[in-house]
Amino acid sequence: MPGTRQALDRIAVFCGARTGIRPQYVELAKEFGVALARRGVGLVYGAGGVGVMGAVADAAFSGGASVTGVIPHRLYERELPRRSRGEVFVVRTMHERKARMYKLSKGFAVLPGGLGTLDELMEVATWNQLGFHQKPIVLINHEGFFDPLAAMLDHIVKEGFLSPQERSCMDMAIGVEEALDLLGCAPESVAL
Ligand code: AMP
Repeated sequence: MPGTRQALDRIAVFCGARTGIRPQYVELAKEFGVALARRGVGLVYGAGGVGVMGAVADAAFSGGASVTGVIPHRLYERELPRRSRGEVFVVRTMHERKARMYKLSKGFAVLPGGLGTLDELMEVATWNQLGFHQKPIVLINHEGFFDPLAAMLDHIVKEGFLSPQERSCMDMAIGVEEALDLLGCAPESVAL
């Protein structure tokens, strides 16, 4: 019930380990990290100090947010661990990493990204569908980045492979503040 639900204090972000070709993706990432810190929301992320993901973590960390990264040791060795922010859990496998990220988080925000981003999004949505957890998911559809994915999901519903109710567990927001409101994060004024 919205009136009695506790504000989300820690969310995971799924987004690109690359920056994409437009500066707006990194700008969005910075805006998102700053907004998390302002609202007192902790960040869980893939612990790579690269791409959109690294920009979110840098901005959140600089703003004073608690930042937790989870990374498999193979990636940790490859990826500039010096640039990882906050607390870092090094785990054995990608599966362990994703399970740990999901467990640590009360909701999920999705920013522009590639295959890894889609993998994580589809997995947490599937876990909602199957009842392994029940956690809000919001895609930030900045400048229509996720329009083709929304169209695909609508097609899947139309063809009878997903119910409209299951589809609705993936919310779309136009901007950062709307996304955090939809996730149930406390507004800045009441953040601890
Ligand atoms: P992608 O969207 O393919 O760039 O993948 C980004 C997502 O997958 C992030 O949310 C991470 O959790 C994970 N990921 C993929 N590649 C890396 C990487 N090089 N370093 C850390 N995490 C990564």
